[in-house]
Amino acid sequence: MMTELIIRDKQKYLEENYPFERMPKLTDKLECIHCNSIFTVGDYKVYKNETGFEFICCPNAPACNGTVIDWIAIEKISQLPINRTFSDPKRPSQSTA
Ligand SMILES: [Zn+2]
Repeated sequence: MMTELIIRDKQKYLEENYPFERMPKLTDKLECIHCNSIFTVGDYKVYKNETGFEFICCPNAPACNGTVIDWIAIEKISQLPINRTFSDPKRPSQSTA
């Protein structure tokens, strides 16, 4: 049985409870691999189980049971191909001679 906790200071809570080294910013966007949705970190929810353990959960909880360990960087977006204009290295040499 999980009960949702209302977190007033989400920045502070995340600082104190984030289990990994590099804590994302509340404004960062991450992807939840459980529900495949992209969410803003600051929208996270916190649930507490019967033993008192608090889980940092996906904003789509309780429909999604993903937690903080299921959050991944959305590399797909940052690696989208960019329409870049590149100079053609095989440019025909102009006969200026
Ligand atoms: Zn999720």
